[in-house]
Amino acid sequence: MTSLYIHIPFCNRICTYCDFNKFLIKNQPVDAYIDCLIQELEGIDTCTFNTLFIGGGTPTALSVTQLERLLSYIADRFTVTDEWTMEANPDELTAEKIAVMKQYGVNRLSLGVQTFDNNLLKLLGRTHEESDIKAAVDAAKSLGIQSVSIDLMYHLPTQTLEQVKRDLDKALALNIDHISSYSLILEPKTQFYNQYRKGMLQLPDDTLAAEMYDYTIQRLAQSDFSQYELSNFAKPGHESRHNKVYWQNSEYYGAGAGSHGYINGARYFNIAPVPHYIKAMQTTGSAVKETHQVTVEESMEEFMFLGLRLNSGVSKAVFAARYNITLDDVFKDVLEDLVADGLLTEDNNYIALTPAGRMIGNNVFEKFLLSV
Ligand code: SF4
Repeated sequence: MTSLYIHIPFCNRICTYCDFNKFLIKNQPVDAYIDCLIQELEGIDTCTFNTLFIGGGTPTALSVTQLERLLSYIADRFTVTDEWTMEANPDELTAEKIAVMKQYGVNRLSLGVQTFDNNLLKLLGRTHEESDIKAAVDAAKSLGIQSVSIDLMYHLPTQTLEQVKRDLDKALALNIDHISSYSLILEPKTQFYNQYRKGMLQLPDDTLAAEMYDYTIQRLAQSDFSQYELSNFAKPGHESRHNKVYWQNSEYYGAGAGSHGYINGARYFNIAPVPHYIKAMQTTGSAVKETHQVTVEESMEEFMFLGLRLNSGVSKAVFAARYNITLDDVFKDVLEDLVADGLLTEDNNYIALTPAGRMIGNNVFEKFLLSV
């Protein structure tokens, strides 16, 4: 069994920091897009998934009718045995939309909260306010969605450590079971990036950003959340099973504009602009832009830097079973150096990042590149 990701590339407003594949929904051919998405899903050669994730963009930017058309098709065509997540924005999560999700089997919501601070929310270009957040969580819970996750952000312009502390207090006061906490990364072609280049954006320095991350880890460790991945924290039993598919370097299907998939040892990605995606689906029946057969070397590299994101680390036995060679045979020198530098821990079964290694994860990951 495998997993499926479906991309809905529409939003009601474009956030100032966002570089995802997304488009302002106004005047977009949303119904034609859903037709093409259904056509693409029709071509998938399996009908049972462990996990399904509908992300974006913002899936809740769809109307109730559009949402129902898509979800009813999915529920008729596929069986999701374990976890079915939908991303949502707090102010778009109406009772009617939640009821449709619940009716067709969605059992987990991932809410794009980012911060509870109304001034920062405005700066980020978000459409919601603090008061929308609790209302959305309460509505989801009361209408029977089993599991709710929220995304938070730190290292935001003008943000202080006190604001990060307040965000975490407010998050912990909600009846939720999963928190993702991401650092703002300035991505080219975003409004923030352009403002930063013109000297118009004041960001916390690296030391303060590290304090924010460290505080998040400590604060959540004192509550009933455990960190299980660099940016992810969960109550027992509520780790994101879909995202673990990515971190364990397992295979999955992707559908929709710009989505990625990894099937039969090959990674592929779809055409990203909506009109081009629709045209490709209508004329050729496929929107795949590129496919790449992953080499064994590339697969080992990915296995290491994806797996090391998890607090549990990389299993030596799983590596050996998958590649028919031991971790030591491939990475002995790198492992010894990183353990000596205090960035990795190693026991008989696993290697994992230490707390110091987690602070500079990307620097550690690049040591596992075999092709340089
Ligand atoms: S709602 Fe999400 S996908 Fe849409 S612009 Fe904002 S961050 Fe990007």
